[in-house]
Parts: sequence; structure tokens; C-alpha cells
Amino acid sequence: MRHIVFTRRAFNAIVTETLDKHPLETGGIFIGYVLDNGIWIVVETIPPGIDTVNRSAYFEYDAEFINYLSNVVAKQYKGNLQLLGLWHRHPGSMDVFSPTDDGTNLLFARPNSWGAISGLVNCDPRMRLTMYHVDAQCNYTKTEWSIDDGIVPEELLELRFTSAAELPIPEAELRDAAATLSAGQPDDGAAQAFTINDAVTEFGQICKKLMKSKL
Ligand SMILES: [Zn+2]
Repeated sequence: MRHIVFTRRAFNAIVTETLDKHPLETGGIFIGYVLDNGIWIVVETIPPGIDTVNRSAYFEYDAEFINYLSNVVAKQYKGNLQLLGLWHRHPGSMDVFSPTDDGTNLLFARPNSWGAISGLVNCDPRMRLTMYHVDAQCNYTKTEWSIDDGIVPEELLELRFTSAAELPIPEAELRDAAATLSAGQPDDGAAQAFTINDAVTEFGQICKKLMKSKL
């Protein structure tokens, strides 16, 4: 059974960004984990950026900003945060996707066998969030969501550096990273082989496509 869990922080970022730009459209990017049991954990919601276009029925992300900030944030976590999908505000009560949205959702859904998640926020007049799963064929499945009340395993939210006694030696960190990369694929398959570096590369490619579709 598929289910989406937002950390409180990730949830707040959606609400505050919507309030901030109301009544115009806005949105953001989800990064986190897809677990084997079908649970999607949105650890952070990345804001849409500075150089955005916000209109009442139209919205463009600042792809360069998102690429930059996603990588900055992802590097602060111990786990391999992945790009999960995106959300955006819609005018009125329109809680289904437009043909333009289909194209954007596919950019996120196609690179991964597990697809992507995409959310729509409406204010009619109370704010509400409708979450969908989207597969590589652009099939949408409405998906239940909740806010983390302690069910997300703590280790998934662990930050990389938390103690003054364990401050890193930059030269050694770089050596370790290089060693991990040259060691190749781990024994137990594709899920573990996906590293932050892969996510960063993949995200860079999606951002380039987003920018192209802007032109
Ligand atoms: Zn839309």
C-alpha cells in the first residue's frame, strides 16, 4: 500500500510557501526516500527559487536555484536523499493536472522504476493538498498522506555532522568519497548502488530539461 509521509519541516514548507505567494501559483520540490514497503518519506521540500514566474494560473520554477539548494540540503543528511517529485498550487478547485503538468511530472517519473509523486494545493478557501503517484506512462493514482508523528525511522533523518568531536578531515573525506566511487556496485543490488552523486547528476539533467521547457 503506497503512502506518503511528510516530515513536519517538509509539510510546513508547502503551507508557508503557499501563504507567501497567495493568491498566485507557486510550488516546490520534494526530496527524501522511497522505502521497499511503498512508503514515500518527504524529508525536505525545496522552495521554488528566486527567479520564478508566479501568475494566477501559471508558474515556473527557478531550476538553477533548485538544483543548487537540493544538492546543498541533500549533502547534509547521512542517507541518500533522492528526488521524489514536486508540488504546485492550482487556481480555484482544480485538483487535476494540466497537459503542461503531465510533461513536468513525466520528467520526474521516467528516470526511476518507482515513478514520482506530485502534489496539488488548492485554497477553496481552506488550503488542501492532494497527492498523486505518477508512473512512467503518466498514470496518476491519488495517494493518502500524513505528517510524521514519530513513525519515520530516526536514522533516515540523521544529519551527517552532529558533534564537535567528529569534525572531519577534508582530505580524508575526499579520499573516502573517491574510494566509494571506484569500488563499484555493492553486492546487494540497485537500491544501494544509487548514491547522492547519482541523484545529483540525475537532478541536474531534470533541471536542464525544465529550463529547456521554459524557453
Ligand atoms: Zn498545474
